[in-house]
Amino acid sequence: LANPLYDRLIAPLDGRASDFLILPDGSTLSGDAFHRLAAQQAGALAEAGLRPGDRLAVQVGKSPEALALYAACVMSGVVFLPLNTGYKADELEYFISDSAASAVICDPADADIVRGIAGSARVLTLDGAGQGTLSDAAAAQPERFAPLERSGDDLAALLYTSGTTGRSKGAMLSQSNLLSNALTLVEEWRFTADDVLLHALPIFHTHGLFVASNVMLAAGGAMIFLPKFDVETVLRFLPRATSMMGVPTFYTRLLDDPRFERGLCRDMRLFTSGSAPLLAETHRAFEARTGHRILERYGMTETNMNTSNPYDGERRAGTVGYPLPGVELKITDAETGATLPDGEAGIIEVRGPNVFQGYWQMPEKTRAELRDDGFFITGDIGVIDPDGYVQIVGRAKDLIISGGYNIYPKEVELVLDDQPAVLESAVIGVPHPDFGEGVVGVLVAEPGTTPDLTAIQAAVGEKLAKFKHPKRLEVVSELPRNTMGKVQKNMLRDRFAEVFK
Ligand code: ATP
Ligand code: MG
Repeated sequence: LANPLYDRLIAPLDGRASDFLILPDGSTLSGDAFHRLAAQQAGALAEAGLRPGDRLAVQVGKSPEALALYAACVMSGVVFLPLNTGYKADELEYFISDSAASAVICDPADADIVRGIAGSARVLTLDGAGQGTLSDAAAAQPERFAPLERSGDDLAALLYTSGTTGRSKGAMLSQSNLLSNALTLVEEWRFTADDVLLHALPIFHTHGLFVASNVMLAAGGAMIFLPKFDVETVLRFLPRATSMMGVPTFYTRLLDDPRFERGLCRDMRLFTSGSAPLLAETHRAFEARTGHRILERYGMTETNMNTSNPYDGERRAGTVGYPLPGVELKITDAETGATLPDGEAGIIEVRGPNVFQGYWQMPEKTRAELRDDGFFITGDIGVIDPDGYVQIVGRAKDLIISGGYNIYPKEVELVLDDQPAVLESAVIGVPHPDFGEGVVGVLVAEPGTTPDLTAIQAAVGEKLAKFKHPKRLEVVSELPRNTMGKVQKNMLRDRFAEVFK
């Protein structure tokens, strides 16, 4: 193959008359129209001086043109670097200079600011409606572009991590990393050309970009391509979809709406969840309402997907299922790196064709987290249950060490979540003069209720050893979350940093 990712994912769109994208206003874009759009953009990128291996930073709203830019990069060998639309100027400056991007595509409204921070990078624009200097340049280009030769080892994307545990790192993803995972997921989740995926995720993150879009490209299906998750629009389009990929908040928001019911899901065959833990309670409530068991899976920017609950077979709430075919997963001791027996909590390590090439310009970090034998130290803590299902118990960086004891936040959160009037919880460690760290349980109340904190402390006392008890319970109106629904524990740690002082 001359350009594996192009040949397998993008080329099938060429000449395809059937719908590839279905847009909120009901209009559609055929596979062929999308391919022509991408070819014209690839021509514009080449004209702007971008060469294979150059990075193209893209911070634009979700639109067919924005997705076509990914295809245009694959065609022209340019490394696609999408950025969260929420990033402000200072953050953007870091990404542009760290990646040494050759060009930046941004919203026209941000163009002046971006020009000020872009250094020598060229600046082009694209708005949410697909207009801007990029589209002007693309319009003058031919509708065919001869894809450049690439090998499986060449970089296809530089994708920055979400920055949940510290500064975002650029994960270098090769063509083979992306392609192998997409093909595996198509098989595992039984995607075909008949599928219509309701796509309401952002496309600057691995979930909406690689899990969702690559899988649908590989399967030859169509996507209902919504700019964002809006309950109203999702309810309207559900009856036209066969599948949806979501973050847990999509599911809780749907369940909060009484209009969401079984009938709307009549043609649905699959709902998946990931990027953040899905509460077992949400899993059960969703099944009760729709008859569907959400399929939870686990992955990250550096690896795409690692594990999945089975398509056939039991989808077990509170777990992320089994390692995907071709992915090896082990649980190791954080200090020694030795493999731990099943049932013991430790660091999740994974190896497979999906595992990235290293962190961009961070050789030391790469050496520290990517072993010589190919295993990647994910930084997540997990346990393998007797049936082989993987359960995520937290992140190593969120592990609490209090009085010399290790406390896995998840274990305490599960107990707190079960208490009356508690909607959800987050357990954190903050500085404590005697214990090093003290455990704080942050609670969100069920609407219209007030949790009885004394009763909750007593209930925790029945269930957990003393050293795990929250020394303090705090009630907040909601947990701070990022766009992917990840709880920002660092913000909670800052907020409650002084409670034991
Ligand atoms: P950073 O690495 O910059 O701190 P991040 O790890 O949040 O940010 P992502 O790559 O977007 O950035 O997220 C991957 C992480 O998301 C995983 O390491 C894991 O902690 C979490 N995650 C993904 N899927 C699940 C899931 N199903 N259940 C629990 N956690 C999940
Ligand atoms: Mg991470």
